[in-house]
Amino acid sequence: MENNFDLGIIGGGPAGYSAAIRAAQKGLSVIIFEKEQMGGVCLNKGCIPTKTILHCSDFYKNLKKAEKFGIEISDKSYNYEKIFNRKNEIVEKLQKSLTKLVQSYGVEIINAEAKIDAKDKIEADGKVYQCKNMILATGSKPAQLKDLERDGKFILNSDDILNLSQLPENILITGSGAIGVEWARIFSSLDKNVTVVELADRLLPAADADVSKRLDRLFKKSGIKFFTGAKVDSISNKTVTLSNGQILNPDIILCAAGREPVLPEGIGFEKDGRFVKVNNNFQTNYENIYAIGDINGKMQLAHSAVHQAISVVDFIAGNKQVHFDILRVPSVIYGNPEIAWIGKTEEMLAGIDYKVSTFPVSALGKAFADDEIDGFVKVLSVDNKIAGAHIVCPEASSLIHQFSLMIDNELKTEDILNTVFAHPTYSEAVFESILGMEGLSLSLPPVKLL
Ligand SMILES: Cc1cc2nc3c(=O)[nH]c(=O)nc-3n(C[C@H](O)[C@H](O)[C@H](O)COP(=O)(O)OP(=O)(O)OC[C@H]3O[C@@H](n4cnc5c(N)ncnc54)[C@H](O)[C@@H]3O)c2cc1C
Repeated sequence: MENNFDLGIIGGGPAGYSAAIRAAQKGLSVIIFEKEQMGGVCLNKGCIPTKTILHCSDFYKNLKKAEKFGIEISDKSYNYEKIFNRKNEIVEKLQKSLTKLVQSYGVEIINAEAKIDAKDKIEADGKVYQCKNMILATGSKPAQLKDLERDGKFILNSDDILNLSQLPENILITGSGAIGVEWARIFSSLDKNVTVVELADRLLPAADADVSKRLDRLFKKSGIKFFTGAKVDSISNKTVTLSNGQILNPDIILCAAGREPVLPEGIGFEKDGRFVKVNNNFQTNYENIYAIGDINGKMQLAHSAVHQAISVVDFIAGNKQVHFDILRVPSVIYGNPEIAWIGKTEEMLAGIDYKVSTFPVSALGKAFADDEIDGFVKVLSVDNKIAGAHIVCPEASSLIHQFSLMIDNELKTEDILNTVFAHPTYSEAVFESILGMEGLSLSLPPVKLL
C-alpha cells in the first residue's frame, strides 16, 4: 500500500530532518510532515537568522575600532533594514536547499499539519498514513509568561524580534540565558542601549560560576546594564518598574526566557512537566512512538536534537542502544566573546576530589594580535579524566569540541600532553589549560600545585 511507511516523522526541524535523512540512509521508507517551513525554529526563527544578524553586528563593531588596527574608514554606519533583508535571503536560500537535500534521499515531504489518529496512523491534509514507527519532532515555541504577556508591539518574544526591520534605541531584555545574552551582544554592538534583567542571583545561571562572573565584567565593558535577582514588577505606559525598585523606560521588552512544547493533535502522551516524557531510548508511553529534540525538554539545542535523531533512528533500524548523555553535549552562548562549556561545573563537583586549571587568554600572542585578551579556558578533572571544560574566548564555539572529543573518549590529561597544537591559535589555551593541570604551563609563571 503506497501510504505505508516504516517511519513517519512529524516536524521538519533539526530533529525531524536529520532523522529523515538517517532513516533513508538506513534503508527505511520514510515520510515527514512539516506544517510551516523545513528547518524548524533553528533555520527559520533561531540559530541561523540570529547568527546572520550577529555576524553583521560584529562586522560593524569591528569597523568602529578600525583605527586601533591601522585602518582608516571615514563612514562607519549600518542600515538595519539591509541586515534584516540579508537575514531573510539567507534563511530562504537554506530552506530551499534543505528541502532539496531531504528529497534527494527519496523522503516524501508533506507540507501540512499532522495529527496522530492512532499509535500507527498519521493524518494530514485529509489523508491517512500508516506508519510502523513514528518520531515526534514538533519542537517548541516561546512560552507565554503570565506576568509579562506578549503583545508583539511593546512586549516581544524571540520570534517577534526577528521580524523587526528597524531596531529601537532602548531595549530591555528579560532573561540572561543563551537568547538574552546573544541579543544583548547584537544590540550593544549596534549602539543600542541595553538592559538585562535576570531573576537568578547571577547572569547566565546555567554556567559555571566563574563564567557568570566574567560575563558580568564583559557586560560592563560593553556598556550593557544589568540587574540580577530582579524581575519586571509592573508596567504602566511603557514605564517598567523592577522588583528592586529600578524604573526603566524601554522602547521594547524582549522576553528571552522560557519555551514550551508544541504538541500535535490526536492521541495524548505522558508528560514530564510540560514536555513529552521519554525513556532512555526516547520512547514515549507508546513503544513505537519516539519524541526527540525540544519536545522532550531534555536540552533545547539544535545539535542535541540532531544527535538524538541519529541515535533513535539507529535504534529503530538495528536495535542499537541509544547513546545520549547531556553532560557530553556542548553548550554555546554567543556572548562577546563566545562562551562554551561541556561536562560538569565546579558546583556539580562539590564534595568530589577534583582538580582545576584555568588559563587566561591574555597569555596568548594570538589574543594580543586580535585585541581579544579578556577570557579564559578552565578545565576540571576527576582521577585525571576531563570532567568539564568552560571557555570564555573568541572561537569558543569551535574550541569546545576539542574537549568534547576528550570527554567522549574518556581521555586522561596525560593522553593529551603529546598532542601538538598550532601556534598562534586560541587552541593553545586548550593545551595550556591541560598543561596547567600538571603544573607544566609554558606561558605562565610557576604555580604551586595543591
Ligand atoms: C532565538 C533562538 C536562537 C537559537 N540559537 C541556537 C543556536 O545557536 N544553537 C543551537 O544549538 N540551538 C539554538 N536554538 C535552539 C534550536 O533552535 C532548537 O533547539 C531546535 O530548533 C530544536 O529542533 P527541533 O527539531 O526539536 O524542533 P523545531 O526546530 O522547533 O522544529 C519543529 C518543527 O515541527 C513543526 N511542527 C510542529 N507541529 C507540527 C505538526 N503537528 N505537523 C507538522 N509539523 C509540525 C514546526 O513547524 C517546526 O518546523 C535557538 C533557538 C532560538 C529560539
